Amino acid sequence: MSDLTSTERERILAKSALFNPPEATLPDGRRELVGLSREELVAELAALGEKPFRAKQLWHWIYHQGVTDFAAMTSIAGPMRAKLAERFTVGRPEAATVQTSSDETRKWLFRWRDGQEVETVYIPDRHADRGAVCISTQVGCTLSCRFCHTGTQKLVRNLGAAEIVGQFMAARDSYGEWPSPKDDQPRLLSTIVVMGMGEPLYNYENTAKALRIIMDGEGIGLSRRRITLSTSGVVPMMDRCGQELGVNLAVSLHAVTDELRDEIVPLNRKYPIKELLDACRRYPGASNARRITFEYVMLRGVNDSEAEARELVRLLQGIPAKINLIPFNPWPGSPYQTSTYEQTASFAAILNDAGYSSPIRRPRGRDILAACGQLKTESERVRRAVA
Ligand code: SF4
Repeated sequence: MSDLTSTERERILAKSALFNPPEATLPDGRRELVGLSREELVAELAALGEKPFRAKQLWHWIYHQGVTDFAAMTSIAGPMRAKLAERFTVGRPEAATVQTSSDETRKWLFRWRDGQEVETVYIPDRHADRGAVCISTQVGCTLSCRFCHTGTQKLVRNLGAAEIVGQFMAARDSYGEWPSPKDDQPRLLSTIVVMGMGEPLYNYENTAKALRIIMDGEGIGLSRRRITLSTSGVVPMMDRCGQELGVNLAVSLHAVTDELRDEIVPLNRKYPIKELLDACRRYPGASNARRITFEYVMLRGVNDSEAEARELVRLLQGIPAKINLIPFNPWPGSPYQTSTYEQTASFAAILNDAGYSSPIRRPRGRDILAACGQLKTESERVRRAVA
């Protein structure tokens, strides 16, 4: 890896730290246990004079059983449970609202202890008992993609690991999916797409910590193959994500020329299409069995011509890829229109003929503004007081 890339990566991580969340502690001083890594949990308990096996027990109760009350942790002796309850809490985000769409998509507006909010969406598969949970990683977003409602909301702050894992755990509460199903047992909440509000690779440390907790086999145990992280193309962080987490990758491409992508995904000005696709070619673990998903929002008369479909085929050469064609989901004041079905179908046909799977996504949850690119909350960045 070049020095330039590692310098750039350090810069991104330092900037991200400026937007870190407040400490996960209650006003009465109790510490939140959700979101601690195993090592941190062991350290918290060691400070109480407890052995590491106690952390293993707690991990099981929190992430396998989904228990939030220390009193229910029956394998732990009563006095110890009382001691834990005095010092710690096992929390969930407060669901300020829960909406269920006519197509059964469910959207939560979660509120954190500092009053900030994000949205989380569950998209059930209507033909099988499974579904995807779309989780957020930031309150707002810095990237201002032009087709995206979230992008009109300034970045307020990053979510902490507790808040990222907490969205999934609260969604599981809502469907009563505890204890965590083992290995290949069916799961209602069977996949995670890190695709909600925010750019996860601009909040890498917290996102990585949360995903490691979710993947841990003694707890929630969701395999990395069932997790897809979606990025707009933060190139310097993509290698690290692949090496350290090995999750599936989705890339918001949406255009085949730098000129257009500069406009609709402004991050392209920093990391243009060639660099982005080179990073995809290097992405560890990508293969025909684990293809990289390219998201392509269909904008009428903007990026949906047949010439653009052919250019897309050319650009993706050599990358094990699948392309999701997403009909644009309008939101109040949005500047684009959705491509016609015929245009989308002929775009898809060119990709299919070239051997790329390119499903046309059926919009889900549009009636509750839960579809791709529609999430937004009222949270605003608190103005720093001028001294
Ligand atoms: S598409 Fe993703 S990265 Fe772009 S503005 Fe929306 S939330 Fe941010």
